[in-house]
Amino acid sequence: MSPMKTYDYLIIGAGSAGCNTAYFLKQSGKKVAVVDREGIAGGASGAAGAFLSPLPGKTNLYNTFVNNALDFSIDFYQRLFPEDIDAKGVLRVKNDNFTEEKLQTNSIGHQYYSSQELQKISENFKEIDGYFYADAAVLDPLKICKKLIEGCDFYIENVETLTFEDGLYKVGEIKAKHIVLAQGASSSLVELPYMKISPIFGLRIDVKTTTKIPFNIHKSISISTNKSDGTVAIGATHQRHDNEAMTCLTTCDKCEYYVNSEEGQIQTLLSQAEELIRLENVEVLKTYKGARATIKSYFPVIGRAIDHENSLKKYPSIKKGTKIPPEKLQYHENIYVINALGSRGFVFGPYLAKILSQNILHADKIPQELSTEKLFYKTARTK
Ligand SMILES: Cc1cc2nc3c(=O)[nH]c(=O)nc-3n(C[C@H](O)[C@H](O)[C@H](O)COP(=O)(O)OP(=O)(O)OC[C@H]3O[C@@H](n4cnc5c(N)ncnc54)[C@H](O)[C@@H]3O)c2cc1C
Repeated sequence: MSPMKTYDYLIIGAGSAGCNTAYFLKQSGKKVAVVDREGIAGGASGAAGAFLSPLPGKTNLYNTFVNNALDFSIDFYQRLFPEDIDAKGVLRVKNDNFTEEKLQTNSIGHQYYSSQELQKISENFKEIDGYFYADAAVLDPLKICKKLIEGCDFYIENVETLTFEDGLYKVGEIKAKHIVLAQGASSSLVELPYMKISPIFGLRIDVKTTTKIPFNIHKSISISTNKSDGTVAIGATHQRHDNEAMTCLTTCDKCEYYVNSEEGQIQTLLSQAEELIRLENVEVLKTYKGARATIKSYFPVIGRAIDHENSLKKYPSIKKGTKIPPEKLQYHENIYVINALGSRGFVFGPYLAKILSQNILHADKIPQELSTEKLFYKTARTK
């Protein structure tokens, strides 16, 4: 029998959330292990496009957060993994929601390209026009996740329960002082009823084509520039099944609901891509499927895992709106959460993981809009 190994942190989930958190904790000299039942980037992260694009529009709390995260993350990936990121910008194709008038209300630099100008760049462009943003990229999600956790121990295991004894969590042959739950759309290992995750399924394809694509193109779907390995990513579809109470125990390629809709979705992606640029000699190389974890507010969630039941038992008046300070709430001991990264998991991953690790290690404050506390109070009061 192999001896028990003890870590400072055990991260459950080897996607963008978990791998980035592992990276920052390991950088601070902590002993970190990562566990995932599907392998590295076996969930939504492996399916991601993975496009990094700005969110233009009238400035508000949400797009300010997205664009700050984008700046941080592009710089982070370029410094650490320059060979796995193509930062050639994105053309956002004009539509009714995306007009010059709306774009004037924010300060993100962009350049308008008419249809004639685009066709001078590539005669394969269809009759489209739009706005070019230089601050955008596409990356290789699997390679990035793998590199982020270099130096951490990695285990393939389906964690079914967390047992806490003598100040340590025990998962199979692993012991850890702290747990970080980075489980994406899967059912949480501790009850967090305030974090109601809705999965949005999606499919992306990688294709081979002889067409040269100068930069990423985005309308309702995205087409990547030709990546360094010669492939082009096209993604992604969005499918909800809101009416069902989902318990996600595995990845999408094993989900019965999802597995049967593959062919139709590939055709949808290819025909939407054809409306933007003519792709010559296309061959679909591989399909990837995953479930994005989203919550109603669209903000991701990070922080200590609040024990919902015991907090409300201790302070039932929270339900009526009494302001109990966060430090008085009950928490699941030494358990942290990073989740609900929605459709921008690779934009948010490094930025959130940095904030979370600074909070864990130095008690730095988490912005309210991202915190478990904000969500807890909100749901407790509206029940
Ligand atoms: C088709 C598609 C396209 C996308 N395109 C983009 C894009 O272009 N740009 C972008 O930024 N984002 C994109 N996203 C979103 C992005 O992929 C997600 O936001 C991100 O991957 C979420 O990362 P995560 O680590 O939270 O979750 P995941 O990557 O799902 O990771 C969670 C992991 O936890 C593991 N796990 C859960 N429970 C357990 C357990 N009990 N025991 C062991 N392991 C467990 C799962 O196996 C899984 O691997 C896309 C998503 C999809 C599905």
